[in-house]
Amino acid sequence: MKRFIVFEGIDASGKETQAKLLASFFINKGHKVLLTHEPIYDKPIGKIIRSNLEKKISLAPETIAMLYAADRYEHYLQIKKALSEEKIVISDRYKYSNMAYQGANGVNPEWIEEIEKYSKDPDLIFYIRVKPESAMKRRKEKDLYEENIDFQRKVFHIYEELSKKYNFITIDGEKSIDEIHKDIIKYLE
Ligand code: ADP
Repeated sequence: MKRFIVFEGIDASGKETQAKLLASFFINKGHKVLLTHEPIYDKPIGKIIRSNLEKKISLAPETIAMLYAADRYEHYLQIKKALSEEKIVISDRYKYSNMAYQGANGVNPEWIEEIEKYSKDPDLIFYIRVKPESAMKRRKEKDLYEENIDFQRKVFHIYEELSKKYNFITIDGEKSIDEIHKDIIKYLE
């Protein structure tokens, strides 16, 4: 059984929503689940990442890429432990987010792949595919945080490339929350 499942996609594509629904689905079936996300903001490395996001400090994109890789390796160790305890692990974001976001900031994604290699590949990567314009509309309707549309477009284009390279399972994220959940379950079954 494939037990290490990751959700990827641009901001507000619906990753957290679908990760939670999938976790409930497995829990209802009697499985043990670790539902987790990245970065781990309350851990030392995550705290530095957050300070940079909040513009309290200003680090180079390459430095940020290495910090994400370091934060992820710590996260991977928790994931590895959960897998050894027979849990299903569902992670909202994983190393592909580093390639997409720091890649959009001008860092070479192949170098990021290299520094991420100690964090093992997941069994399944669901890519919730939503166009940057749709995600922006969604954020406006829900009165959520703002994102720069040009940056989101760059991230989207890198995700499109990564989806081919790493065999992402592309899910149409423009559908309703319920329909998307059903599509994910259909794929798993
Ligand atoms: P992400 O984790 O990718 O940033 P979220 O799951 O937090 O995205 O969703 C962002 C917002 O969009 C939330 O307010 C959520 O309720 C809403 N949302 C999620 N999926 C859909 C969907 N398929 N259609 C419309 N709104 C959605």
